Amino acid sequence: MVTGGAGFLGSHLCERLLDDGHEVLALDNFLTGTPQNVAHLMPRDGFRLIRADVTDFVHVAGPVDQVLHFASPASPVDYLLLPIETLKVGSIGTLHALGLAKEKGARFLLASTSETYGDPQIHPQPETYWGHVNPVGPRGVYDEAKRYAEALTMAYRRTHDVDTSIVRIFNVHGPSMRAHDGRAIPAFISQALTSRPITVAGDGSQTRSIMYVDDLVEGVMRLLRSDLAGPVNIGNPHEVSVLHLAETIRDLTSSSSEITFIERPVDDPSVRQPDIALAKAELGWEPKVEFRDGLSRTIDYFRSHPDLVAD
Ligand code: NAD
Repeated sequence: MVTGGAGFLGSHLCERLLDDGHEVLALDNFLTGTPQNVAHLMPRDGFRLIRADVTDFVHVAGPVDQVLHFASPASPVDYLLLPIETLKVGSIGTLHALGLAKEKGARFLLASTSETYGDPQIHPQPETYWGHVNPVGPRGVYDEAKRYAEALTMAYRRTHDVDTSIVRIFNVHGPSMRAHDGRAIPAFISQALTSRPITVAGDGSQTRSIMYVDDLVEGVMRLLRSDLAGPVNIGNPHEVSVLHLAETIRDLTSSSSEITFIERPVDDPSVRQPDIALAKAELGWEPKVEFRDGLSRTIDYFRSHPDLVAD
């Protein structure tokens, strides 16, 4: 079962799980995702999509052996617009997903985030770092929902013996992202492809570490198949400034867009880089897709969907 299965990451995971021979139940309320993301999976044997809100009571008939809890608004535009929904799915939604895993004796995997580190004071960020998060700032709704979800997951592990795991995901990009979800990569690509100015926040010196979706899917699958509790960082340590990211996208799209500078969002992290020693040692995982190669693949997706990048 994949909550948030019709979202960006959820839909890629459903596809991989089907490819690996699993039966997959995707549960989604289409708050920020869409059934179109899994339309290509609908004809496949063993795939079911149900429209449901994981913050409501969740019941699944029959056995379930893995619960992947990916439901949550995830992009800044979404969670700033949907603050209560974000807190509810991180708290009540996680409670229900854990309850299902407990009832079915399933392995549970929580999609957490590098945002649990907030604006970090340690660089790069290992899993042992507790983070630097502003609970009352606008982004607190997302960061604290995920921190609470992690605490709840560990409580179910310790109290109810549920086989849990937590993945802390760093920025991912790839096909099925929305062009206007407020994340830098789709924004820069759609601006570059339509010759509009590329809008970099602040002076662009803040850094990000971006990972292509195939690497994320492989990392999640390895964690799912292990008995590791985590949290485990899954991200690409290749760190670049946001300005360099904008310049690279302009270069790869052969765009004539100019780069302009806009105000930086409140509590925008200044650096971001995963320490992936744990994933390497315990899961034998490391990202395989190179920075420019991954970006080219995401650009190809948006190029082949010109309707998405229109203003
Ligand atoms: P997304 O918005 O594309 O997918 C989230 C899905 O959850 C959507 O389909 C949405 O409709 C669904 N959803 C939201 N609330 C729900 C509810 N109450 N009941 C049922 N479904 C609900 O976002 P994404 O980028 O695919 O992120 C998926 C997960 O991965 C999130 O939990 C996010 O926090 C985490 N994550 C993503 C990234 C990234 O770079 N994309 C990074 C870190 C963590």
